[in-house]
Amino acid sequence: MKNRIIIVGAGPAGMMAAGQAALSGAEVLVLEKMGRTLLKLGITGKGRCNITNVAEIPEFISHFGTNGRFLRQAFHRFFSPELLKLLQQAGVTTTTERGGRVFPTSGKALQVVQALRRWAEKSGVEIKSTTAVDALLTDANGVSGVRCAGVDYAAAAVILATGGASYTATGSTGEGYRLAREVGHSIVDVRPALVPLLTASTGAVARLQTLTLRNVGVQLYVEGKKHSEAFGELTFIPKCVSGPVILTLSLAAVDAVRAGQKVSIEIDLKPALDDKKLDARLLRDFEKRAHEPMHSILRGLIPRELVEVCLECTRVSHARLGHSVSAQERMNLLHWLKHFTIDIGGHAPMDEAIVSAGGIDLNEVNPRTMESKLVPGLYFAGEVLDLQADTGGYNLQAAFSTGWLAGTSAAEAQQTEF
Ligand SMILES: Cc1cc2nc3c(=O)[nH]c(=O)nc-3n(C[C@H](O)[C@H](O)[C@H](O)COP(=O)(O)OP(=O)(O)OC[C@H]3O[C@@H](n4cnc5c(N)ncnc54)[C@H](O)[C@@H]3O)c2cc1C
Repeated sequence: MKNRIIIVGAGPAGMMAAGQAALSGAEVLVLEKMGRTLLKLGITGKGRCNITNVAEIPEFISHFGTNGRFLRQAFHRFFSPELLKLLQQAGVTTTTERGGRVFPTSGKALQVVQALRRWAEKSGVEIKSTTAVDALLTDANGVSGVRCAGVDYAAAAVILATGGASYTATGSTGEGYRLAREVGHSIVDVRPALVPLLTASTGAVARLQTLTLRNVGVQLYVEGKKHSEAFGELTFIPKCVSGPVILTLSLAAVDAVRAGQKVSIEIDLKPALDDKKLDARLLRDFEKRAHEPMHSILRGLIPRELVEVCLECTRVSHARLGHSVSAQERMNLLHWLKHFTIDIGGHAPMDEAIVSAGGIDLNEVNPRTMESKLVPGLYFAGEVLDLQADTGGYNLQAAFSTGWLAGTSAAEAQQTEF
């Protein structure tokens, strides 16, 4: 038992690390606190599991922000083609969709869950579920095992793959941060990323509930200065804005709100038309529909749900007829269509975040092996690390790649010792 590798957490990172360590010849025990493995993986991609993305490594890394370069070694050893080959051998064929997103052809995340579970078990991994790790054990040589409900499990290496701190019903409750902190690791501030943002606007905007806007440009403003922008789909849900564009911009908004800064978003509802073309379009519409009231003319320009909002924001009367719109009113309408502004008052709670930002400080982890620079024999994999990316399959690939590298490195270290 002294030579075995213990993996804490049976998510994608832990299961990949376990299977790979076992295939490399190690004796492997996975300890999972929930009753089943891979619970979060089963709900990814709205139940369809966006496994990875076909982007090349440099572009892939750019989706992780400045910390992305930490992943370079892991991606060079095990990247999307290797992952897809492994899954195919385990019986999962895949399809690439818009934006390079890869899904199982079956459209079922549960197929990926079952395939990974079978693959790990066939590789010789032992899995003990309903077993929460309460502490990491160390001695003068480094890590020596783990403690679960007062019972000690000896190990030559431990891979901490406990995930982040969101969707806690899946088991990711952020305990890994405490376990790592207790053995000396620093934890970068943990906060929600890929999370809906709370609107602070009142009036008709606050009443928008289930509207989806496709192909819009969204700019994030912090203290009145443009911070970042994204293009795509935005959804209004009760009290919040969400959808891919908002999720992409959310971490910067979360950090600004937490710092007490003023945050807003500007939506360009007509990104394909510059001001000149949009003005010509408005003039044409008002001329063609000279005797129609404004609320009816606007229906040809924006979704029905936005008409009330537009009229309220621009202070143009519902009853104004096309032929009587003043130049100033037309300018107001044009400006609103290009700069529909919503104030942001906060963000949805951590538990509703797709991933959590922050985690184990990457400066204390060797990117070539995933081993701790502080505690020999302790490795990290997956979302417990200070890594987070946009939506698009990037987060799961990072979990699989760091898991693969941690499993391989831990097993190789055992072999060189004997
Ligand atoms: C709704 C939703 C949809 C998502 N969709 C996608 C998607 O389509 N594509 C994508 O790339 N990413 C997606 N993600 C993100 C992705 O699921 C995570 O980044 C990924 O699961 C992280 O893997 P992990 O193995 O590091 O952690 P997790 O999957 O969180 O697994 C960690 C495991 O550790 C266990 N554990 C925790 N503490 C202990 C302990 N003390 N003892 C024992 N076990 C413990 C937990 O029970 C859990 O099983 C989605 C996330 C959510 C919430």
